[in-house]
Amino acid sequence: MTKPCSFHWADWIDGDEILDKLSRLVAIPSVIEDEHPEEGVVQEILRWCQGDGFDPILTEVSAQRRNLLLEIHGDRPGPKLLLEAHSDTVTAGDVSMWTYPPFQLTRCEDRLYGRGTADTKGNLVAAYLAVRILKQATKGIFPGSVQFLVPVDEEGMMSGIRHYIASDAAQGLDGAICCEPEDLMICIRQKGALRLEAEFFGRMAHGAMPLTGVNPIPIMVQFLQAVADEEALAQDSLGYDRYLGWPSMTPTQIKTPIAGPQGFNVMPASAAVSIDVRTVPGQTHSLLVSRLQQRLSAIVQAANHDLTDGRGHYLRSALEQPTIHGPITGRFNVVDDRPVTETSRDHPLVQAVAAAVESVVGADPVYAGVPGATDGTWLWAAGIPIVTIGAGNRFVPHQVDEWVSLQQLTDTVGIYADTAYRFLHHW
Ligand SMILES: [Zn+2]
Repeated sequence: MTKPCSFHWADWIDGDEILDKLSRLVAIPSVIEDEHPEEGVVQEILRWCQGDGFDPILTEVSAQRRNLLLEIHGDRPGPKLLLEAHSDTVTAGDVSMWTYPPFQLTRCEDRLYGRGTADTKGNLVAAYLAVRILKQATKGIFPGSVQFLVPVDEEGMMSGIRHYIASDAAQGLDGAICCEPEDLMICIRQKGALRLEAEFFGRMAHGAMPLTGVNPIPIMVQFLQAVADEEALAQDSLGYDRYLGWPSMTPTQIKTPIAGPQGFNVMPASAAVSIDVRTVPGQTHSLLVSRLQQRLSAIVQAANHDLTDGRGHYLRSALEQPTIHGPITGRFNVVDDRPVTETSRDHPLVQAVAAAVESVVGADPVYAGVPGATDGTWLWAAGIPIVTIGAGNRFVPHQVDEWVSLQQLTDTVGIYADTAYRFLHHW
């Protein structure tokens, strides 16, 4: 890769403007549970764009939930890069637990407190300024184009990024930077996620006369043991991923019965368990699903065998003659499937980010992975190489007293601008 001589981006970055823009965004709650949460943020960024002479495109994803997309073009053909930062945040939770008001930016020396400061309104401001500075500092003399996208609903079903990917605007993208709080580490891997649900159906009965029904709960427990076995097997065979840690299969919700009220003396007719599966490179989702499916089928089959041949737990009593049982059934649903993502360290995008970090921060780049799924998962699944990087301690998002470092944010503006400049010159 030929390294173009880089601009001295710091000359173009104004800390007061970062503070002003971030305080405006934090003052607009865009909590995912609210009705059309992102619209206020979109209106605010639209004002910035108009003030700076930009003409962004607003696209309706669903009723009053709009993506904002700004594209700046260089003076000649070349690569096309995306910088994206979502407009929504998670809830502040119990506001009385906060030391500082969640929807008002509070500065304590280098720390800026407020919901969304790290995840990811601070990085949104940085990406916007980076794109503007790229245009100003270069006077528009660079190859290719850069898009600045603010999608809705990242904290929900990620409908914003999916809508964008399906649009013409996403065609021909050569790479994307996902602007998320990663402490300026260069995240080149991201765990995959599978949301699985197993359901078991038996027959309702009085708790005092269990043999007059079929209890799905012990069957579900056997399945949970099988899930734990599969998790141990995956951990043993794949080991600890140096960027992502261990693969996991975590039971997160149990419902029994699946619908309707519970009773202490009522044996339920149904039981369901949710399994939050997180995967690392080397695991194939379809294979994993079919293994669990087989385990479930085997457990259900064995239970039915016990029921019919009279040896089973359910038919052992001589005192209680069982009524006619329906067979026990089980089924398995894949609720959501998000792939593992991995961008090679040799990829020009990763090299551009690494060079930018070195040049702006003056330190060796640190590589890492993202433990959760993000908008980047969908970009990667669409064939677009991604790197996730941004300001903010990676454990702070979704907690009370969320904060970001102003120094890191200032560096982030330079890193985004420098990355874009280097990447666009890479061929
Ligand atoms: Zn985020």
